[in-house]
Formats: sequence, structure tokens, C-alpha cells
Amino acid sequence: MNYPLVSQDRLPELLRRMPKAELHMHIEGSLEPELMFALAARNSVQLAYPNVQALRDAYVFNNLQEFLDIYHAGTMVLKTEQDFYDMTCAYLARAQADNVLHTEIFFDTQTHTGHGLSAATVINGLHRACADAPAKFGMTASLILCFLRHLSEEEAFACLEEALPMRDKIVGIGLASSELGHPPEKFAKVFARARELGFRLVAHAGEEGPASYIWSALDVLKVERIDHGVQAFTDPALMQRLVQDKIPLTVCPLSNLKLRVYPTLAQHNLGKLLDAGIVATVNSDDPAYFGGYLNENFTQTFAALGLNSQHAYQTALNSFNASFIDASLRQKYVQRLDEVFETFA
Ligand SMILES: [Zn+2]
Repeated sequence: MNYPLVSQDRLPELLRRMPKAELHMHIEGSLEPELMFALAARNSVQLAYPNVQALRDAYVFNNLQEFLDIYHAGTMVLKTEQDFYDMTCAYLARAQADNVLHTEIFFDTQTHTGHGLSAATVINGLHRACADAPAKFGMTASLILCFLRHLSEEEAFACLEEALPMRDKIVGIGLASSELGHPPEKFAKVFARARELGFRLVAHAGEEGPASYIWSALDVLKVERIDHGVQAFTDPALMQRLVQDKIPLTVCPLSNLKLRVYPTLAQHNLGKLLDAGIVATVNSDDPAYFGGYLNENFTQTFAALGLNSQHAYQTALNSFNASFIDASLRQKYVQRLDEVFETFA
């Protein structure tokens, strides 16, 4: 970009106002305690916590697994298509407030089919909200189905089969949940099948797991984007590969802080990734649990790392370039990004 640098005191406002895309957000991770209690009441589900505050107080985690345990317990309140619709609309309203123009929402069906729901209940509810997004929230939204990597590849195949009648409602396939001990190559066959079927492919890799997981996500699963990927920084050859092939990383700073991938935000490597020429983006991962939606991730991380308005522009531009939208919509969104920067110049 050729815009003059915006002063640091105006940077938070610019970060909040600039148009952006969110590419790494698990919809069940946007379920706020208030909505969780409302759905629990609607569906006569007993929660393990007496009230909203007690639940929120339990959101202290030492690692990914501790978070996943409480997160999966929260999904028990989701029973009907309307529940999935309502949860998604609540997130979209929040995203709109953060000037998100496009979002690619992660979801899984395995958690819910494990509770006796059908994949159709989940996918139809989520999709109806995404279809309503342009009219209701002035933004676009699409869906990425994630396999749960702590389960078997056989179970991932069953999940894919069950989703196929609704394949026009899903843009891509991803890989989420407990990373350590579940390397990408465990899912080589099912990703090959998804690729054959024409799905866009992404995978979580290099969050808690080693850089080698990023290599195998790229070379074995043949994904187009890496979710998290911050451990790439430990491997110069991998950094070179990511830059050369313009492989985007969907970085989630507040998640990394809350799950102790980094002890403080000031130690996060987002700035180093951007300065190295990596197509890094900023995302909220599970915002109801990790202390902030997208703009909080931007403002807190930029403040902690002393990043500037050029980094801001690059990150927002990266988010549109890394998304799965078509070229004409991308051009429209980048134009809106430029308009905001022009008003700040
Ligand atoms: Zn994630």
C-alpha cells in the first residue's frame, strides 16, 4: 500500500473500522454463556454451572485439551436446526459490528452426531444463517466442515458421506481438535477423497504441534491454507516455502495467549511472520472462550507488538486474498478497504 502511516493513537480506530475477512472461527466457540443458558432452558438441558458468571469463571485453560473438554460440554445445549441458526446469527451480528465483510465459518458435525443429532440439522441451520447474511448483516458467509482429528479416519469418512447430500452448502473441508499425537497424515485418504470431490482444503497445524505437521498438511493433505501455523517460524525452510507458495496462515493471537502457546501477546510472532512476507491473517478462533472477537484480536495484538498501519493494511488485504471468495467480490471488498485507508490518510 502507498498510504502514509497513520499515527499510533489513531491506529485502534483504524483497526476497528477497516473492512476485513475472518477465516478461522469455530461457530460453537462463539456460543456466549448467555446464549448457552438460554438454549439450555429452551431444550431442558442441565448445565454443570449454576449461572453465567460461574461458567465464564471456568474459562481458564492450561492447554488446548482443557479448553476442548469444556467446549464440548457446552455443545450439549444445541439440539435443533433453529439453535444452530440462532447461534450463527449471534456471531454474524458480532462480526458485522467488527466490520467483517466476509467470514468462512468452521463447524463440525461429529460432536453433534455423537449426541444423536443428524448432520442435516447442523448444516441446514448454519447454512440458513449464512444465506441470510447479506440481507441481514451486509456481509457474506460460507461454511467449512472440520473433521475431529482425535477421532479415526474411518469416522471422518462417515462424516464426509453424511454431509455429501448437502455439499452445495459447504465450501471446504478442515481438520480441527486435539493436535498433538494426531498428525495430518492420519487423514491422508479422506482428504484425498474430499479433494477429488472438489472441496477447498484447510487444516489446523503448528499450533501446539511441531512444524513437521505443517509440512505434512501441505504435502500429504495438500491443503491451501494452514490454520494457526505459528510454529513455522522455527523452521527456515518451511518459512521459505510458505512465502514462495503464498500459503496463508490463519493466526489467532488471543487463542494462542489463552491456551498458553505464548506466555504474553508481546512474545507473539505475528509481526515477524508479516515482516517475513508470510500471508498471515488475524482471527478469533473461539471468541466466546478466548476473551475477544476479531477487533479485540487486532487492537490488543497490534498494541502489544507495536505494529503499524502498514501491517494493518497488509493483514486485512491478506484476509481477502486468502479467502475462498471469487475475484469480483474480492475486488469489491479490497476497494472498500482502500476507501477506509484513504479517509485516514
Ligand atoms: Zn481453531
